Amino acid sequence: MGRLADLHCHSTFSDGRLTPTALVNLAYRNGVRVLSLTDHDIVDGLPEAFQAAERYTDFTLIPGVEMSTDVPGNEVHILGHFIDWHNPSFLDRLRRLQESRLTRAGLMVEKLVQLGKPVSWERVEFFAGQGAVGRPHIALALVEAGHVSSVNEAFNLYLSRNGRAYVPRDRLGPDEVISLLLDVGGIATLAHPRELHTAGSLGSLLEALKAAGLTGMEVYYQDYLPEEIETFRDLASKYGLIPLGGSDYHGLGGSQQREPGDIPLPMEPVQRLLDLAKERGALQRARIAHAR
Ligand SMILES: [Zn+2]
Ligand SMILES: [Zn+2]
Repeated sequence: MGRLADLHCHSTFSDGRLTPTALVNLAYRNGVRVLSLTDHDIVDGLPEAFQAAERYTDFTLIPGVEMSTDVPGNEVHILGHFIDWHNPSFLDRLRRLQESRLTRAGLMVEKLVQLGKPVSWERVEFFAGQGAVGRPHIALALVEAGHVSSVNEAFNLYLSRNGRAYVPRDRLGPDEVISLLLDVGGIATLAHPRELHTAGSLGSLLEALKAAGLTGMEVYYQDYLPEEIETFRDLASKYGLIPLGGSDYHGLGGSQQREPGDIPLPMEPVQRLLDLAKERGALQRARIAHAR
């Protein structure tokens, strides 16, 4: 009988490969009993996830979202847990983000045509499925068209920040996103901090984000090594953040990919998150079910 938690997973509603139902079922089979679905800038997969969770009498599902933000020279992802995902102005904000994402993807496809590496918009949309079109889908279209041999190469040559077809997106600062999440009763957590730590900007960022209302930081994540986990746990404690974590499961494979629940996230900080949600009156937005 499993007793695992995973606070960061994706479904077909963003760039994951499993439907919310398949994700919930896989997580449950893996022993996960507290799960959050955190698709990129979209909450449309949540109704299906909640419905799937109904099958289980001992499974807690937390509504979530992962939002992309920019700081100079880097991208910062913020997870929002316990958000009031029915809030109309929040939904409207997400819809506008999706629109600008589409415009941006269209511009990148145009640039590829100009570079003599054409991919068709139809194929990009095909790879996106029901999810939001993004760079991974353009990368898959580039691989299919034979312009590159792998998704990595597609990013390196064309789609990364220094790639030839790169188009920057509308900038949204992490502090803006945190206040957006707080406005809908969300609890904000900094996702996968390793790149920011490598860039040497994590300390000052944490200080600023803590002041903006950040509550947690992912400490247990994918292939983070024990010594990295220790470093991030120390940083979380220094800045008064709850050390959380998730697999960031997409179902796309890759050496760093972990299954839902396959991260050494202890239950104690997860309980702290649940307690905080209770304190803030946000717990009823989760589906809570404990085995008795
Ligand atoms: Zn992310
Ligand atoms: Zn993610």
